[in-house]
Amino acid sequence: MNRTAQHLVSHNIKPSAQRIAIMKYLMEHPTHPSVDKIYCDLLPDMPTLSRTTVYNTLRVLEENDALITLNIDSKNVRYDGNVMPHAHFMCRSCGKIYDTALPEGILKEIPGMETFQIDAIKLYYKGLCQECQEKENNNKE
Ligand SMILES: [Zn+2]
Ligand SMILES: [Zn+2]
Repeated sequence: MNRTAQHLVSHNIKPSAQRIAIMKYLMEHPTHPSVDKIYCDLLPDMPTLSRTTVYNTLRVLEENDALITLNIDSKNVRYDGNVMPHAHFMCRSCGKIYDTALPEGILKEIPGMETFQIDAIKLYYKGLCQECQEKENNNKE
């Protein structure tokens, strides 16, 4: 069994060909794509694929914690095949979403949170990425 199929099975998901293709795409593209992006990129190799199938498959994957969804982009839900805890930064100029580490001790140092069991943390930063800062600076000169 390949790595993608193993990932699905470990999340109690039956590894159908479509599920494997979509999960594999997410694992190979850590760019946090939208449904449309995934659909458009997979379509040439899977001509019978429909947008609804992609959407429904992503939902099954999400419900079983095989992926995480991001609401960092107000226009589209974005999908992430990296289920290890991490934070995200979205650039307001180019729209790219970057992975960042969670601040150390984030689980321990929030007063009043000690008694809760935390299953997920969604931490979003927004601003300008380095590339776009450089572009802005160049325009000013
Ligand atoms: Zn940028
Ligand atoms: Zn991520």
